[in-house]
Amino acid sequence: MSTGDLNFYDDNVKPGIPEEYHRLLRNHPEIQKWISRDHQVSHRFDCPLVACSNLLGNRQYIDRHVKLVRPLIRDRDGKTIMVKITPFLITHERVEKALLVVFPTMPYERRHHFATAAEKEHVEREGFRWTSYKEEMRKDIKADAREKLDICPPDMDETPLDGEPTLLIRVHEAQARARGGAKGAFMKSSKKPKASVDYSRGHPSSRCGICNFFLHSRWCALVEGQIDPDYWCELFEKRKEKK
Ligand code: SF4
Repeated sequence: MSTGDLNFYDDNVKPGIPEEYHRLLRNHPEIQKWISRDHQVSHRFDCPLVACSNLLGNRQYIDRHVKLVRPLIRDRDGKTIMVKITPFLITHERVEKALLVVFPTMPYERRHHFATAAEKEHVEREGFRWTSYKEEMRKDIKADAREKLDICPPDMDETPLDGEPTLLIRVHEAQARARGGAKGAFMKSSKKPKASVDYSRGHPSSRCGICNFFLHSRWCALVEGQIDPDYWCELFEKRKEKK
């Protein structure tokens, strides 16, 4: 998600974080590879906190209320021009997701800090002032915190909402609506019910915690609902260890 935790909105780049992020990129080339993979962008759902990724990470969602063209101050002459902000938001989301894939146990907050550093670099590389961009985006945070969630992406990666059970319930209700509630089906969930894949207690060498599809910290890319790392199902595929 693009802008931090519900309870503390944090868009500051912490000292040392950009250097650490670049060190990670140098030592783990798979991060950059993952960030650069093909992906789609959708602007038709409600996303708590501005933007999010899908479970597989090949689609990023930007809240449908977010205005994608915004006035930003150009660094070289101080002029304000209208700029499409989509690429900056997407950079943030893709970095967060790539870090989750490469480091499944890295806490969301840490991923968010690295992603904010990458987002800032992108804004500045394009010649705009980070302060002006932040000011613009804060308007969306305020709006989002109060926003009614009507339809949420059915395949949304919910890991950033761990620790926000009330919001998660609202998201699940809005996902149910998006799958075909009273307002009609926007998209069918591609996830399978547990009963259809023989979800049951696993074994030390075959369990969700070491499965390719397991998403920190209790979600699966293929199977519905919360997942216990010690269980497994017939879709199990052992995650390859990093060298
Ligand atoms: S074993 Fe099945 S439920 Fe568990 S993470 Fe893998 S695909 Fe998901």
